[in-house]
Amino acid sequence: MIKNYENSLREIIKEYNIKPKKKLGQNFLHDKNIISSIINNVNVKDEDIIEIGPGPGILTENILKNKARSLLVIEKDDSFEVNLKKIKNKYKDNFIYLINDVIDFDFNKLKKKEYKIVSNLPYNISVPFILKMIKIRRVISWKDMVLMVQKEVAERITAEIGTKNYGRLSIMVNLNNDVEKLLNVKPSSFIPKPKVDSTVIKISPKNKNLNINEEIFEKIVKICFSQRRKKIKNNLDQLNTNTSLLLELSNIDPDIRAENINIEGFLRISKNYEKLTKENL
Ligand code: SAM
Repeated sequence: MIKNYENSLREIIKEYNIKPKKKLGQNFLHDKNIISSIINNVNVKDEDIIEIGPGPGILTENILKNKARSLLVIEKDDSFEVNLKKIKNKYKDNFIYLINDVIDFDFNKLKKKEYKIVSNLPYNISVPFILKMIKIRRVISWKDMVLMVQKEVAERITAEIGTKNYGRLSIMVNLNNDVEKLLNVKPSSFIPKPKVDSTVIKISPKNKNLNINEEIFEKIVKICFSQRRKKIKNNLDQLNTNTSLLLELSNIDPDIRAENINIEGFLRISKNYEKLTKENL
């Protein structure tokens, strides 16, 4: 029979007098099936893992019980320090906790290892966190990330070209990663219940050499989607360059909208923009 963690979670909440903080996205996961599925999809055995936002630590202890080689957790809320210390006492050799805001955290400080990243992400930081991790692949080379996010965020990440969800997030994540939707999770799997459904996704780097300046690419994508309803040529006019020439060289129809341009199209615009700026055109 599958043991559920609902009672254990209620006990932890009572023992440590935890009052879930909405502004830190504190919806704690107790559903054993979902936790097992996350652990299996990460495949934690003998791996170096980073978990963001361990909170009461149920997922955390499961990662350790399933024989991760090492586990580093980063938690913003210092009221969880008491229970994280207790976990540390049990797993002295391979568990480290840091009380830190992951958005400000400098990943340069970490030992150079190939980490796997796991998190039931707090809703308010899911997008900035994912964008940060994609940018810092040059600093720490993570193997893959298994993340619980709001269903709507998962839909934006996996959106098809030409749909209303297709935008900067879809492009930045899919530029050099494969994305897989693993499972949908109902509010009843959490305490307290969130108002929205969640989805567990897996992001795995493709490690292709794109041969681009990623900062320029990001700038171009941001400008192109700054006003979604506008034609691409009008959005690109914000750049100090010859827009018609840029689009002609990139083989993009100036009258279409950003939502109808695929990643290869953005790559061409970005590379040609770099070229034109160098040549001062
Ligand atoms: N891992 C636990 C679970 O699955 O039940 C808790 C998940 S809860 C959705 C999100 C956790 O992230 C909370 O413990 C919260 O305090 C923490 N958190 C929120 N913002 C954070 C930030 N900026 N940096 C690190 N942790 C954060």
